[in-house]
Amino acid sequence: MLGLMQDWPLLCHKILDYAAAQHGKREVVSRSVEGPIVRTNYAEIHLRAKKIAQALERDGFKLGDRIATLGWNTARHMEVWYGAMGIGAVYHTLNPRLFPEQIAWIMNHAEDQAIFVDLTFMPIVEAVADKVTSLKKIVVMTDAAHMPKDSRLNLVCYEDWVASVDGDFKWKEFDENTAAGMCYTSGTTGDPKGVVYSHRSNVLHAMIASLPDALDISCNESIMPVVPMFHANAWGIAMAAPLTGAKVVNPGGMMDGASIYELLDTEKVSFTAAVPTVWLMLLSYLEETGKMLPHLKRVVIGGSACPRAMTQKFQDVYGVEVVHAWGMTEMSPLGSLGSLKPEYASLEGDDRLDIQEKQGYAPFGVEMKVTGDENEDRPWDGETFGRLKVRGPAVAKAYYGGAGAENFDEENWFDTGDVAHIDENGYMQITDRAKDVIKSGGEWISTIDLENLAVGHPDVQEAAVIGIVHPKWDERPLLIVVRKEGKDPKASDILEFMQGKIAKWWMPDDVAFVDEIPHTATGKIQKMELRQQFSDYVLPTA
Ligand code: ADP
Repeated sequence: MLGLMQDWPLLCHKILDYAAAQHGKREVVSRSVEGPIVRTNYAEIHLRAKKIAQALERDGFKLGDRIATLGWNTARHMEVWYGAMGIGAVYHTLNPRLFPEQIAWIMNHAEDQAIFVDLTFMPIVEAVADKVTSLKKIVVMTDAAHMPKDSRLNLVCYEDWVASVDGDFKWKEFDENTAAGMCYTSGTTGDPKGVVYSHRSNVLHAMIASLPDALDISCNESIMPVVPMFHANAWGIAMAAPLTGAKVVNPGGMMDGASIYELLDTEKVSFTAAVPTVWLMLLSYLEETGKMLPHLKRVVIGGSACPRAMTQKFQDVYGVEVVHAWGMTEMSPLGSLGSLKPEYASLEGDDRLDIQEKQGYAPFGVEMKVTGDENEDRPWDGETFGRLKVRGPAVAKAYYGGAGAENFDEENWFDTGDVAHIDENGYMQITDRAKDVIKSGGEWISTIDLENLAVGHPDVQEAAVIGIVHPKWDERPLLIVVRKEGKDPKASDILEFMQGKIAKWWMPDDVAFVDEIPHTATGKIQKMELRQQFSDYVLPTA
């Protein structure tokens, strides 16, 4: 027997229809690439998205075509996504922090037919356009006055192109499982792999992301996604915001402490999200200037582990609640969030921080387990490590073109490549990437735990831990440290600080100081490069 409810496919542009109908006047504020702060609202974005859909169709684009974007978080970038999805085309976010060769490879693999680009990234397009055989149209997201003057490419001016149609356009209709968006994983090993989101998965993910114990988004919030749209859908905010009618504040390309602070303050931002690196810059700025954060209530921190000291500073000094989150491109991306269940809600001080250091628990729609070497389920005891596996309606079931099939099993469990433990209340803690974990005398040492501890030292700006070959123990940890400006801690100071806070045999065998730690295009520490850099390193204990 079938239900007798209406067939209402979960299509992403219905989110924007809803935002325009119910929250049409709600503002979307962007720091534009040209400089000034630009204000628009959901009603205007809806109309312009319709114009984009209409112009794309007029220019011959259709269902299934891949439309690349190379842009900051701005209202224009949002419009392009919804306009493309509204004809069943597939937005494809490119990460501008990748090398042009990688971008060209990815565009060819995805067979992108058009690209919408911010002025900032014109040099990338100039470098790759000839190499992408499928590319037919290059639209520069600016107005006529700011168009590049001397390009050899055939460029279209976005504002003129949008103005060339009237927006009298009916969205196309198609199945909710149709592809909506694409994003390639950064590919620290092997070629990048394409993740293909569907309309259904995006809508479900936006609903899940908005829940009170997830991002807790509502139309009474002013939210700033600092996490870029090219970084796993801005963690779902580009869809969760219009789905709830929240005001959006887009930081554009300026993520330094002063610029972020300015928007947090003038736009009375109540909720924001980004990787720890961004918050380090903001916290340094606040410390230097003595400024406070009176409007901000909540900050979601993820993408890499949020150091305990950062959580503590946000909460104790600025009165801002920290929600630690974990996820990945393959998961749309939210996988777990650290809001506190009743079991933990009354904890205070260090006990509370102990829980907040974990990456949190899975929301509805994410099933999670940790497994051992024989693929056996490991207990949820908060100690036993295993490979972290997930499945759900917004989790990838394959990569584009069938690459990486070994990461998915026949029951749809996706192996995240992370190593974690889960406690009796469902709180998961990442202890490492499977390929970064240090194996010392047959036991595993979590590099993330050591890094978190080291950055708690007041003179340490950033820390990374890698395994160095050891004649007796196979591998032992080396702590690599960037000092805070003007500070000069000794190795012994830092080791002393760590002593007693971790198992003795986890203590790093040595500390190396560097000026800079290399990062990947998504802001994670590039351990492969560090391992190369320190490949000849001999530990004093060896
Ligand atoms: P995203 O684009 O959302 O950062 P990626 O696909 O680039 O996702 O990277 C996902 C990986 O980032 C995860 O598998 C995990 O190793 C790491 N990661 C994400 N969030 C956290 C976190 N809160 N703590 C530790 N590692 C994290």
